[in-house]
Amino acid sequence: MKAIYLDYGATSPVRPEALEAMMPFLTSEFGNSGSIHDFGQRSREAIERARRMIMEAVGASSPREIIFTGSGTESNNLAILGAARKRKHLGNRIITTPVEHPSVLEACRQLEREGFELVLLPVDETGRVKPQDVRDALDDRTVLVSVMAANNEVGTIQPIREIADVLKGSSALFHTDAVQYFGKLPTDVKELGVDLMSIGSHKVSGPKGAGALYVRKGVRLEPIMFGGGQERGLRPATLNTPAIVGFGTAAWLAAREAESEHVRLSALRDKCFRRIREEIGGVELNGHPTERLPGNLNLSFHRVEGQAILLELNRKKIYVSSGSACSAGKHAASHVLTAMGKDPETAWQSLRVTFGRETTEEDVNRFVDELKEVLRYLRSLIGHPS
Ligand SMILES: *Cc1c(COP(=O)(O)O)cnc(C)c1O
Repeated sequence: MKAIYLDYGATSPVRPEALEAMMPFLTSEFGNSGSIHDFGQRSREAIERARRMIMEAVGASSPREIIFTGSGTESNNLAILGAARKRKHLGNRIITTPVEHPSVLEACRQLEREGFELVLLPVDETGRVKPQDVRDALDDRTVLVSVMAANNEVGTIQPIREIADVLKGSSALFHTDAVQYFGKLPTDVKELGVDLMSIGSHKVSGPKGAGALYVRKGVRLEPIMFGGGQERGLRPATLNTPAIVGFGTAAWLAAREAESEHVRLSALRDKCFRRIREEIGGVELNGHPTERLPGNLNLSFHRVEGQAILLELNRKKIYVSSGSACSAGKHAASHVLTAMGKDPETAWQSLRVTFGRETTEEDVNRFVDELKEVLRYLRSLIGHPS
């Protein structure tokens, strides 16, 4: 039985081009990019090539606008803590949404403990923020607004450009967590109108252990770690050369393929959902019907817990997620679905299926066939044949 991985929202396998680019730096080319000798400088050059690839992939103007970090989580922490603390003298209000990734929400809660006032914007039943609500929450003491580009659980895409337009002329910085969005949709920091943008390597077929923060020229941040002068003092640590090199290659290729992959994965996703609705039934799509990530289906099957479906599929070597990977272990109803006004029942029923680069039509067909069996079985247990 072939395993079918449908959990690209959690992570993705390293693509061969990225692995190939990394190999020398995992073996013979192990120099510290901070060393002055030629051996170190070859690592330095590889990192600078990766930086330019990321710069191009996100539409930044200069390599100096790209800061390498260790993860998407770290990029979010650096952006939020770094921007707010640097601007404390200007005001103490920060604005975000209740559907953010925990690495944004918890960083904001930390700021709240430090005396900042945290405003959580309302979201509608699809998980979307209204730009008008940003306008209403904004005051002249607002130092930072952070709204994710696309949600990791339900795939909803936020109106980032429209929010940026609302913020024009205000002194607030605009950060977006684009860890899910980047690589799946064409991403350009100038078109999005953001000051800060987080991306991560392992969600775009790069290795784990690398992330990046786009910091628009002129934006000042307070470091959150202290040590050496690497990454302009914003990320003091020996750079993870192999991971960064793999990340650069993967990000550059993902950006180049985003448009065609968007078309392919959206078609796969729509076909998959159509089959599920027609052949299984008793199902609801969570998130926005059209403004959603191409490879994301978040489904609630009536009367059946998402976790139960996940475990049955697992026995068939089909790997999906219920809610987000981070909340799965914690056994709490998804904060995203709760914020969207879903009743606890619907939240418990949620199953997240995410497609990616290696997903084929054959995989999706087999998934639906097996899911049909699983639902028939689980619903028979509770005396409600579908
Ligand atoms: C995965 C993810 C993160 C965290 O990235 P890591 O690299 O796993 O730390 C942050 N935000 C979103 C939207 C994500 O999907």
